Amino acid sequence: MESKTYIVKSISEIAEDIVKLELDPESGEPIQYSPGQFMLLTSPSGTKRAYSIASSPSMEHLEFAIKQVEGEFTSQLKTIKEGDKIQVEGPMGPFIYNTCGGYVLIAGGIGIAPMVSILRDRDGRSECQEVTLFYSSRTKEGLAYYDELREIDSRNENLKTIFTLTRENPEGWEYETGHVDAEMLKKYLEGLEKKRYFVCGPARMVEAFRSLLKELGIPEENCTFEGWNV
Ligand SMILES: Cc1cc2nc3c(=O)[nH]c(=O)nc-3n(C[C@H](O)[C@H](O)[C@H](O)COP(=O)(O)OP(=O)(O)OC[C@H]3O[C@@H](n4cnc5c(N)ncnc54)[C@H](O)[C@@H]3O)c2cc1C
Repeated sequence: MESKTYIVKSISEIAEDIVKLELDPESGEPIQYSPGQFMLLTSPSGTKRAYSIASSPSMEHLEFAIKQVEGEFTSQLKTIKEGDKIQVEGPMGPFIYNTCGGYVLIAGGIGIAPMVSILRDRDGRSECQEVTLFYSSRTKEGLAYYDELREIDSRNENLKTIFTLTRENPEGWEYETGHVDAEMLKKYLEGLEKKRYFVCGPARMVEAFRSLLKELGIPEENCTFEGWNV
């Protein structure tokens, strides 16, 4: 594991209560990582938290998508500014996406961050086999990377993206509503017991999927779970 000082390149809100943080290595030499991994960030005032990498390794900057929950780290997002220093340690994490096909990515809320890294990484690579993304959010305004994910979906035939809203059904909404459940998985997945699952989001949602995937007969070794207390 490496530790390096990074400089804040930009910080901006990209969805309701979701902040995008872009960092550049101070030395010019970035820490290498695989799509889907996470880093430990130490804020300028010394608070350390884990955040999934949303950028892909081919991008020049390191990118994070952070949900504002007014805790110790996230309440500092209002004052962190371009040029500030952030210590980055890593990479870590079980979401190592090392083959190209047969994946089902299930993201709840800010659990989309590592999935964005994976989808950016495989964007335009026609050798990749199929991937299905289910991304649930309470509201449309809360969907981070919505436009980019739609664009990636439209140019990759081997990718199917399903957005679902759990608290609203806005006019003209062309995707799903309600939580991702067995019925929704069966609607979009053929041979669902043979797929490889990555589930990421709030801890309670991830625990619910642990039970659901087991009930559906998916072997545990084909599932990777990452649940956060956000
Ligand atoms: C491997 C991993 C990857 C992660 N990746 C991401 C990511 O990509 N994006 C992301 O947004 N998060 C991610 N997280 C979560 C992140 O690490 C932090 O836990 C999160 O940002 C909250 O940090 P905080 O310091 O703001 O909150 P903390 O101060 O640690 O508080 C934790 C929770 O308690 C609540 N809380 C704090 N104080 C009080 C209080 N007095 N009363 C009631 N509630 C309180 C906060 O609102 C918050 O919900 C990840 C976690 C892990 C383990």
